[in-house]
Amino acid sequence: MGRKARDPEQTGKEPTPPWKPDEPCPCGSDHLYAQCFLGIDGRAYKSPIGRRPPGPQTGFSHARCYMGWSHDCDQQISGEHFISASVLTQLGGPKVKLNGVPWLAADETKILPISSLTGNILCKRHNEAFSQLDAMAGKFFAALKLNHDDIFDRKTLSRRWKWLLFSGEELELWFLKAAIGLFHSGNVAKDKTKLSDTQTINPQCYDILYGGILPAPCGLYVEPIHISEQINQFQLQPLSDDAGQRMVGLRMTYMSFALTLLFDPAATYGPSATVSKTYRPSYLMVRNAKRTHTVMLTWTPTTSTMRGVVRASFWKSTDCVTARFSEAGACSGGGSEEVISGRVWSMSCHLP
Ligand SMILES: [Zn+2]
Ligand SMILES: [Zn+2]
Ligand SMILES: [Zn+2]
Repeated sequence: MGRKARDPEQTGKEPTPPWKPDEPCPCGSDHLYAQCFLGIDGRAYKSPIGRRPPGPQTGFSHARCYMGWSHDCDQQISGEHFISASVLTQLGGPKVKLNGVPWLAADETKILPISSLTGNILCKRHNEAFSQLDAMAGKFFAALKLNHDDIFDRKTLSRRWKWLLFSGEELELWFLKAAIGLFHSGNVAKDKTKLSDTQTINPQCYDILYGGILPAPCGLYVEPIHISEQINQFQLQPLSDDAGQRMVGLRMTYMSFALTLLFDPAATYGPSATVSKTYRPSYLMVRNAKRTHTVMLTWTPTTSTMRGVVRASFWKSTDCVTARFSEAGACSGGGSEEVISGRVWSMSCHLP
């Protein structure tokens, strides 16, 4: 890593991923790149991992498991948090900030101790079937943190670029699992009324979690945000439909990115849900004057040469009162077939 890899805004070209086939895969698995993400066309892509329990169907439905409809539960209920330990340990702080739930005013925020993100909503068998998604998400949030920590480190003069690689589709599925978990979790409630007693989630979402991919325009939207005083704070915000009857999305903020998953295929999402956000970005970049670190997300290959880029820049003396967002154009140009066009949302901020 740390080989030549240029910013697509300057080059107008899709950066060449810096990994060699015989190197360990940058996704953090035990496999070589060639056996994991590297496709035969030379591009990085892998299909999302399976989420069904192994072996023959048990025929049993646990009354408290939200995947009980699949008749493939075991008898034991899992106590694991719906945002798994692998992710929570990366997020660091003992608290999660929650807002946008129906019983709080628009600007009201609730701080929840992580211990309240209770389990008891999946049987052990289904919980284990999702464990690879959880492990991936732990690595994803660790990568975001690693990239930011290095960019904020004023002592390091290194110009080395960090590049990490994840499946965008797996990230969406983990996010969907977190949203469904939040929805079913009893402690996220007002007057002991669960969110799931006042709203529903489209049943199609459970099928997708089990064995599908979210259809467009559902999926992941990312925007850069100004870093807050509490850098490590993790914030969750469920999104409801206009009638307040369905939970149709979840917004999650961490470090300088806000990730929004819109997951109800039957919902109509207005422009406010998607404007100023990049849909299914290929690159999440964090940079300072010396170096740029990239988390690359892969998506089902298409013939489109549009690549979404979300970039947070940190300079010593930037007045960060005004966020500068620019929609580019900036990635297009040139004549080679490598050239990509893209939508870049960038933000400049002070170094914390
Ligand atoms: Zn890999
Ligand atoms: Zn189950
Ligand atoms: Zn700022």
